[in-house]
Amino acid sequence: MSENLSIAENLALVRANIARAAKESGRDEKDILLIGATKMNDADRVRQAIRAGLTACGENRVQELLEKNEQHAYDGAALHFIGHLQKNKVKYLVGTVSLIHSVDSVALMQEISRQAEKRSIVQDILLEVNSGGEESKSGFAPDEVAAALDAAGALPAIRVRGLMTIPPICRYGEENLPYFQLLKQLFVDNGEKKYDNVRMDFLSMGMSGDYEAAISCGANMVRVGSAIFGQRVYPAKQS
Ligand SMILES: *Cc1c(COP(=O)(O)O)cnc(C)c1O
Repeated sequence: MSENLSIAENLALVRANIARAAKESGRDEKDILLIGATKMNDADRVRQAIRAGLTACGENRVQELLEKNEQHAYDGAALHFIGHLQKNKVKYLVGTVSLIHSVDSVALMQEISRQAEKRSIVQDILLEVNSGGEESKSGFAPDEVAAALDAAGALPAIRVRGLMTIPPICRYGEENLPYFQLLKQLFVDNGEKKYDNVRMDFLSMGMSGDYEAAISCGANMVRVGSAIFGQRVYPAKQS
């Protein structure tokens, strides 16, 4: 990634890396969905990425997603939600996004199902797993995943499509391998069981620093922000 390259050039580099990582693990690049993590990039920059061939966008704040959606920023691409979700915001997302990656409690699953039922749709979701067991991170503990998948059976308006994780160390790909392997194992083991309203299709893991490592462990969705859009500049904190 370089600040001097355009979004289109960065995107081409990321795609080439995905293709190589896919090939090295015996897969086709077409089987891996690149989701552009578009947070803090305005509608114009999102459109630039879509014009350059990005087919899916992921936002992690509801308000920002709604504002940019109103500006038609995501036209021509799929829209996913990847950030922490509060129950009172669920109603704004259901039916607007094609996939919610970050479902971290049974109560949240219930609320998504309730809102989807009202709209007579079925909402696709992923369960977020706290693979590093960190206090500060949300997500199901690895040993809670089976019970959560079981709970989906009582919720007809959601369909669990797979698992997602954000491992503890996001800077160096190799260090995250054990967490990615843990998730892959959960994905395979639970995929072999029969749960109602569950179809284990997607394994969402890998960000700018570690998407190739994630692909080597079986990821088929990667969420890449800064490697496409450049470093995000966060506003200075008010003291
Ligand atoms: C921002 C974000 C990403 C992308 O992060 P980069 O390191 O910029 O690639 C991926 N996943 C989630 C949940 C995010 O919030």
